[in-house]
Amino acid sequence: MSEARVIDGKAVAEGLRQRVAAAASALRERHRITAGLAAILVGDDPASRLYVRNKARACTEAAIASFEHRLPEDCGIARVLDLVARLNADDRVDGILVQLPLPPAIDMRQVMAALDPAKDVDGFHPMNVGHLWRGDPGLVPCTPQGVILLLRSVHENLSGAEAVVVGRSQIVGRPVAALLLAADCTVTVVHSKTRDPAAICRRADILVAAIGEPAAVTAEWIKPGATVIDVGINRILAADRRPLLVGDVDFDAARRIAGAITPVPGGVGPMTIACLLRNTLLAACRRRGLPDPLLLEA
Ligand code: NAP
Repeated sequence: MSEARVIDGKAVAEGLRQRVAAAASALRERHRITAGLAAILVGDDPASRLYVRNKARACTEAAIASFEHRLPEDCGIARVLDLVARLNADDRVDGILVQLPLPPAIDMRQVMAALDPAKDVDGFHPMNVGHLWRGDPGLVPCTPQGVILLLRSVHENLSGAEAVVVGRSQIVGRPVAALLLAADCTVTVVHSKTRDPAAICRRADILVAAIGEPAAVTAEWIKPGATVIDVGINRILAADRRPLLVGDVDFDAARRIAGAITPVPGGVGPMTIACLLRNTLLAACRRRGLPDPLLLEA
């Protein structure tokens, strides 16, 4: 059997970023509106700082204004909620991003629930979660949205496909399952208590892995010709002690069985920021009663 097609997430993400940049420029020229994204970073985690910096750079490249707000690790929830309230009221801000993870003393659910749902570009507010499961328009979480866009880059039609999602987290597994359902797939969700996950996954035309365990999905889990989307990002040490980034799927083995597969890095990862920019622009239009920019249709 020939090797799987490797889905180029970087290229798909770059195309989306260019469309967002074009739509953001059109919004500015036609309506004198500059879309804006505010990021809240609590604490001093170096990885989170890097993510926020990368998001700010991506905003600049897409003609979107970015505002960064940093709070100390021990600031307490009242200060976070106060900042959220100010950003909710700030008309320059169309999207509010709360960089995760928050320090353990700050309840993520309370912070998410305080966001204006119209500015909730991460799509974690209960109202947006409800919209997603009802199939109503709302703001859709970025990584799951990226998963669907990558699937659509290889499948014109997902209707009727047997889809299995491995992982049921609030930020990846569950929203991916809701989006696949909305795309008329037959969806099964596998988790840590599932009996014989390999047998269930082997039924899948579309297999999405969001587990957080390096190479947990082996060749035995994959149906010949399936499309495999690997959301996992795991940092491991290679045999020669070099740091290595790997996914949740055993890529080399899976590639010999699957029909199409995303690499790590260079698969889902680049889609997340591109979808964040997309959401910010959609929020900027919807908050003002403007139609969604055609350029951003998925
Ligand atoms: P999470 O919150 O830790 O959830 C992991 C899920 O996997 C849980 O539902 C867990 O089941 C399930 N699971 C764990 N081990 C399993 C096993 N052996 N078999 C079947 N299911 C198993 O993780 P997450 O936030 O969803 O993230 C998952 C991965 O995606 C991580 O590697 C993360 O770094 C990556 N990620 C990537 C992006 C991106 O931009 N590419 C964004 C977000 C996350 P239970 O519910 O039963 O515990």
